[in-house]
Amino acid sequence: MSQSEETTAQNPFLTNHDRRAIHLAGSIQPHGVLLALNSQLEILQVSNNTQQYFGKATQDLLGQSLDSLFDARQTATIKQCWEKNIGSVSSYKVAIITNHQEQFFDCIVHRTADVLIVELEATASNSEISFFSFHGLVSDAIAQMQNTANLVEFLDLVVTELRKITEFDRVMAYQFDGQGAGAVVAEAKQEDLPPYLGLHYPETDIPIESRELYTRCKLRFIPDFNAQAVNLVPINHPITHQPLDLTLSVLRGVDTCCVEFHQNMGVRALLVISLMQEGKLWGLISCHHHTPKYLAYEVRKICEFLGQIVSSELAHKVSHSEWDYEVKLKALQSELLASISQADNFIDALIKPEIRLLDVVSAAGAAVCLDNEITLVGVTPNLEQVQSLIEWADTQVRENLFYTDSLAKLYPDGIVFKDTASGLLLLRISQVRRYYILWFRPEVMQTVNWAGNPNESIHLDVDGNVTLGPRKSFAKWQETVQLTSLPWKKSELDSAIALRNAIVGIVLSKADELAKINLELERSNRELSSFAYAASHDLKEPLRGIYNYSTVLIEDYAHVLDAEGIEYIETVVTLSVRMEALINALLRLAQLGKAQLRAKATDINELINQVIDIFYASRQYSQVLDIRIPRPLPTISCDAVLVNEVFSNLVGNALKYNDKAEQWVEIGYLDAAQQQTGENSAPVFYVRDNGIGIPEHHRETIFRLFKRLHSQEKFGGGVGAGLAIVKKIIELHNGQIWLESNVGLGSTFYFTL
Ligand code: ADP
Repeated sequence: MSQSEETTAQNPFLTNHDRRAIHLAGSIQPHGVLLALNSQLEILQVSNNTQQYFGKATQDLLGQSLDSLFDARQTATIKQCWEKNIGSVSSYKVAIITNHQEQFFDCIVHRTADVLIVELEATASNSEISFFSFHGLVSDAIAQMQNTANLVEFLDLVVTELRKITEFDRVMAYQFDGQGAGAVVAEAKQEDLPPYLGLHYPETDIPIESRELYTRCKLRFIPDFNAQAVNLVPINHPITHQPLDLTLSVLRGVDTCCVEFHQNMGVRALLVISLMQEGKLWGLISCHHHTPKYLAYEVRKICEFLGQIVSSELAHKVSHSEWDYEVKLKALQSELLASISQADNFIDALIKPEIRLLDVVSAAGAAVCLDNEITLVGVTPNLEQVQSLIEWADTQVRENLFYTDSLAKLYPDGIVFKDTASGLLLLRISQVRRYYILWFRPEVMQTVNWAGNPNESIHLDVDGNVTLGPRKSFAKWQETVQLTSLPWKKSELDSAIALRNAIVGIVLSKADELAKINLELERSNRELSSFAYAASHDLKEPLRGIYNYSTVLIEDYAHVLDAEGIEYIETVVTLSVRMEALINALLRLAQLGKAQLRAKATDINELINQVIDIFYASRQYSQVLDIRIPRPLPTISCDAVLVNEVFSNLVGNALKYNDKAEQWVEIGYLDAAQQQTGENSAPVFYVRDNGIGIPEHHRETIFRLFKRLHSQEKFGGGVGAGLAIVKKIIELHNGQIWLESNVGLGSTFYFTL
């Protein structure tokens, strides 16, 4: 990896002070001369290579005025630079008489707080690059850049154009992530070189200090890593004794670690251009060459200028690509919501197609949990692991949206499934029920493309000392990114929240709908019972008339009718009696529909005694009544009048549908222990007989109104409403009724209240 020009942070033996001091190198690269001047333009410090460039000894220049090198016009120009802002850089062509010859230089001048730094790079000609050749170099590139459709295409074009201009072997665009790590996102290179495109690099490769330098100084050029550095004389400012701030120096010396880093990779020359977005370092363009390569200052300026154009276009392209991504998420979201709102099966709507649920937040796996039902999608931990994770979330997570890119650090059990779920995004749909959507992302080490082998660059020197090369930082990164997934982006979190809001909205509106339907149902139920009540009530009167007139016919007009006529009228009487019974039953049921329970503590023993007394009173049963009550019955809260009706009906049926010579009825109850349920279970009452029994397929239908299993003549007739009324009363008590029966042997009706 070449992006790191300053790699001091890779070397753990350097102190923090050293790490901060990379801009205070105290030396320059040998392809030029550096002079530090005071406001009188007296030379305070100079690089120790003036003999080579000017034919003058360094010591002879110290303390001298700039006049001793430059002519008056040139000196006057330089003097003006004192008036400029700190940090602003100016460049001129100058001619200096060296060894009686005129030599041209590119003269690059900038101010620090207390000195003027003048840097001189030898150049062959005195002429500035013409506007036309400059225009020729950049105008095409700029025009094409503006036409690219997306960020990737744009950066591809940038590196290609820059490679054309610089003629370096490899030109790469490198993008930082939020944490300072980054990846090669575009590359133009000589064909036979191995590709670096897609490789990721740790934050430590380009530590914060270097990133700050790149933020301030937008172009860095090192024509030859093997070149011998040239010290400044004296090394510190002669009055302040402070080292010279070389942040903006074009000749700034190269950190030894950086030299080794690039030498290891076979890189001899390097050009780095900063890419800025909204004042922050977005990335770098890094150019490598495998032999020494000098680029004229003008060409470097063109590259820097292009860098600025790229930076300004970048904001637009980046926001465009982020926007594209957001649009994609939004489209997925609304598609998902449309399916959820239309579907009957919520889970199906969420997970079909599976990829949509994953893409909506760019996850590799997901789990949808509705109470105990968990559905897994994509690459996830196993079901048991997800269950435990949800149990953990149940107690530990209060927020509706929870996310981490390092689950194992919060949930140590998660370490076993770090490969699939180092990242977790959890959406709590309900505060009361266990409704969750979980999304998972794998550990980043599983997903990114590694840049090289960490051991490759650890060397032993002749003394057996370990030298740390560039890839040492890689190992360090491995430590820092362990158990970590790619971070969740804001747009992805927004997408999850929008999904939650929509789901809650849909669920709520469905609940509203249900409540409305319930209300409507209640209203129509009420209307129906009123109608049934009114109808049956009103029917009784004409029926009475039919009955009365028919009896009068039989009693007073029997003599005018023949036997057949009398038989017909007798049938009318029987039928109207039966019809009255039916209407009464209907009326009773309608009344029950409107009934309010009058519940109070009722001793069921007493209640049963009243029921039995009525049966004794009726002549029909007095002889044969064998009613057994094996143990005293409990006292419970119920509507005594209605429960009396329940027992009367059940006991009546038990006696009625019995063909045995010795009939018996048993009334009892099962307590909680006998039911083998919880301690608080209500008693289950039963009425048992040794009667005819009820075939299996009729055990539901007998509770329907007017449903009878026998003809009128058999078992003393009946209207078939008794059990419907019983069921209604039990339901009014929020109870249930069911039965067991053996045909020919008897039946047991059970109920709760
Ligand atoms: P009804 O007794 O007026 O016919 P019910 O609603 O009370 O109406 O009973 C419906 C039917 O269920 C009866 O016609 C009878 O066939 C059957 N049935 C009810 N109780 C018993 C029982 N204890 N043993 C056998 N059959 C029964």
